[in-house]
Amino acid sequence: MLRLMRAPSKYVQGPDALLELYEQVKDLGKSFLFICSKSGYKAAQPKIEKSFAGKDASIRFEIFGGMSSTGEIAKMQKIAKENKIDVICAIGGGSAIDTAKATAYYEGLPVVIIPTVCATDAPCTGLSVIYNDDGTFANYIFYPKNPDAVIVDSSIIVKAPVRFLVSGMGDALGTYFEARMCQKTNSPSLENGGITKSAMALCELCYDTLLADGYKAKKSAELGILTLAVEAIIEANTYLSGVGADNGGLATAHSVYNGFTALEECEKTMHGELVAFGTVIQLILENAPMEEIEEVIDFCVSVGLPITLKEVGVTDPSRVMIAAEKACASGESIHNMLGDVTPQQLYHAVLAADALGKDFFGE
Ligand SMILES: [Zn+2]
Repeated sequence: MLRLMRAPSKYVQGPDALLELYEQVKDLGKSFLFICSKSGYKAAQPKIEKSFAGKDASIRFEIFGGMSSTGEIAKMQKIAKENKIDVICAIGGGSAIDTAKATAYYEGLPVVIIPTVCATDAPCTGLSVIYNDDGTFANYIFYPKNPDAVIVDSSIIVKAPVRFLVSGMGDALGTYFEARMCQKTNSPSLENGGITKSAMALCELCYDTLLADGYKAKKSAELGILTLAVEAIIEANTYLSGVGADNGGLATAHSVYNGFTALEECEKTMHGELVAFGTVIQLILENAPMEEIEEVIDFCVSVGLPITLKEVGVTDPSRVMIAAEKACASGESIHNMLGDVTPQQLYHAVLAADALGKDFFGE
C-alpha cells in the first residue's frame, strides 16, 4: 500500500476571518452560491455581504432543508446550473457542508467550506455522508480531492452553543488513537492509503492540543470569549482532527458511534460525544495502560464528555448488544483493530468502560 497524504488546498482561521472572505476566494471564480443552514446564514451573511461589497463578483444565499439528502443536493445543483455558479460554498455544520461538497462535486466546481460550529471534523475531510430524502442513510461519497478552501471565523464559532465545541473535542479525541491502531495493523486511511509520518504527527498534535487547551477553551467559550486556547481547540477540532482522520484512518471509536445511533435513546447524543465514549472503549479493547485510560477519562470529565452509558442516554444495559452488533457490521472500521473484534468482545468492553466511568463518579 502506498503512503498517501491529502488536505484542503487552503485553511484560514481567525477572528472576523469572513471579513476577508472575498480576498481569500476571489481566484476561484466570479459567481458564488452559499448553501446555508438557518443559524449559519444568520451568523455569517452580514460579514460576507460586507466582504463582497463593491467587488467584481456575485453572491447568492440559499437556506437548505437541513439534511444532506439526495433531493436537497439535486435542488442545489439545479440552482447552480440556472445561475451559472462558479463556486459552491457551505455555511453551517456537517449537513450544510456535506450538501455543498456533493453539489460541487457533481457540478465539477470548486468548494469553499465556512463552518459556523465546530462540532465535527467534516470541514477538512474529502468525504460526505449522504441520506435518502426519508432521513435514512444512503451512502458515503469519497471525493477525488479535499475542499479548495476552509475559512473559519473564530468569532462566530465561539458564539455558538458550547456543547458543539465540546462535541468537536470528542470527535478529535478519537483521532490519534484510531490512527495509531490503523498504523499498527497496516489498515488503510479514509483516503485508502498507507499512513504517513505527517498524518501521525498531526494526530498526535491533535491529542496534545486537547489535553493542553481543552479545559481552558471550554471555560472561555462558556463566556463567549475568544482566547488563544479557543483558537487552538478550533484548529484541533477542524484541521488536525479532519486531516488527521482522513489520512490516519478510523477504528473502534467511530464504529461505536455508528452502533449506538441504532438506539433511539441515543438520538440526542452528539457524534463527538459517542466518539469520546468510544475512545475509552477502544482503549479497553487494546488493553492500553491504565495511565493512558485515566488520562483520557480525566480529559473527558474536565470538558464534560460522557464516560458512562447513562451519560450517552442508555439506562438499560441489555440494549448494548444491539449497538455492539451494529458496530461490528461488515465494512465497519472496528475491523481495523488488532486481532479483530466480535460483538461479544465489544459488548464486554462497553460494560468495562461504563464500570470505570461509574467508578470515577463514585457511583
Ligand atoms: Zn467523526
